[in-house]
Amino acid sequence: METKFCEFCGNKVAIDAVLCPKCGKQLEELKTETSNSNPQVVINNSNTINGAYERKQCDKWIALLLCIFLGVFGGHKFYEGKAGMGVLYLFTVGLFGIGVIVDFITILCRPNPYYV
Ligand SMILES: [Zn+2]
Repeated sequence: METKFCEFCGNKVAIDAVLCPKCGKQLEELKTETSNSNPQVVINNSNTINGAYERKQCDKWIALLLCIFLGVFGGHKFYEGKAGMGVLYLFTVGLFGIGVIVDFITILCRPNPYYV
């Protein structure tokens, strides 16, 4: 076991001892909680309060594939976060197929990624 000598009385104490068992003097600085000394600075970033960031970013090709394979179930609508329309597609078989065809062309003409 590693030992050190008390700087007050010269007693041999354990290397990690904080207090000397003989004289009771403090040998090491008590470890204090450092997390409170560095409070996190909350930056109010007004740039995030922007319409473009609040909109959902969609991948054109994922939406297109969902439209092709799951279009009649509203798959691409659910992907775009339009759950209401998705349910509508689900019960009307993609607005009787017309909605799916229209959406397929619409998504095809969109840039990648696109925002809804
Ligand atoms: Zn001591």
